[in-house]
Amino acid sequence: MTSDALAQLRADIVEVGRRLWSRGYVASNDGNISVRLDDGRLLMTPASVSKGFMTPEMMVITDLEGNLLEGAPGRKPSSEAKMHLVVYRVRPDINAVVHAHPPLSTGFAVAGIPLDRAVLAEVVTTLGSIPIADYGTPSTPALADAVEPYVKAHDGLLLANHGALALGTDLFGAYYKMETIEHFARISLVARMLGREHLLSREEVGRLQQLRGTYGIAAPAPICSDPTAGGPGAGEACQIVVAPSAPGEQLVPNTDVTVPPIPNQVRAAFERGDAVEVGTDGAIRLTYAQLTALIDEAVRQLT
Ligand SMILES: [Zn+2]
Repeated sequence: MTSDALAQLRADIVEVGRRLWSRGYVASNDGNISVRLDDGRLLMTPASVSKGFMTPEMMVITDLEGNLLEGAPGRKPSSEAKMHLVVYRVRPDINAVVHAHPPLSTGFAVAGIPLDRAVLAEVVTTLGSIPIADYGTPSTPALADAVEPYVKAHDGLLLANHGALALGTDLFGAYYKMETIEHFARISLVARMLGREHLLSREEVGRLQQLRGTYGIAAPAPICSDPTAGGPGAGEACQIVVAPSAPGEQLVPNTDVTVPPIPNQVRAAFERGDAVEVGTDGAIRLTYAQLTALIDEAVRQLT
């Protein structure tokens, strides 16, 4: 690799760190970023720095065992280097890893809710499912062990009670997957709050999977859209995307939005036949006199 190419990668890591920080995906010194160089060594963020304020010379170079090969005095590899190392060992096709704690996807990771439903066509096509790796104490081998079974078949995953991990064939590819994970979490949360999370059918998921081939999207594993396809090892062999078997079928029941009851005073005005106007938007409009009468009536009921 030429020194210019290496300098560009250092600058790219600075830029990705700045985007992670400015979008609120990391706080304090959270998160870490690494890139596999063409000689097999790794260029990664150092420990204990804010990702929003890095400079190119801060980056360290390690071997695939995590041993420090190059770095400015006092700089050590990221505390999560072990998690990055396991990805590069398991996935020869991956050349960049981004780890952050984006609040919405981390919220799903804390709640134990994987982002594995067939909701958005683009997410199904690019990431498939985003499962949750079991909890492992950060910076210990336990976290790397927890992640290993999932990285074989997934480019994006949540880390239980911790954050999110995105893998890419290049640095910006990994970063964009992190953006997609957080964007998907945001949309999923809103849909669930609205009580109407309609899912794509299994048939449509099959169609989207075919699009991967059409667009040359390199997925690490096929999608299995049968919600019963789980079980030990299933997450290693395929990306489980939960989808109903027929277009009309819903796996997630709708939650009816609660409409507040009509106040007794307004109901009374209706019953008296007062001229109460109901707009096409459902809003009830009262004259000043009607409103005063209703307030008087409410006060009488209270006293
Ligand atoms: Zn972390």
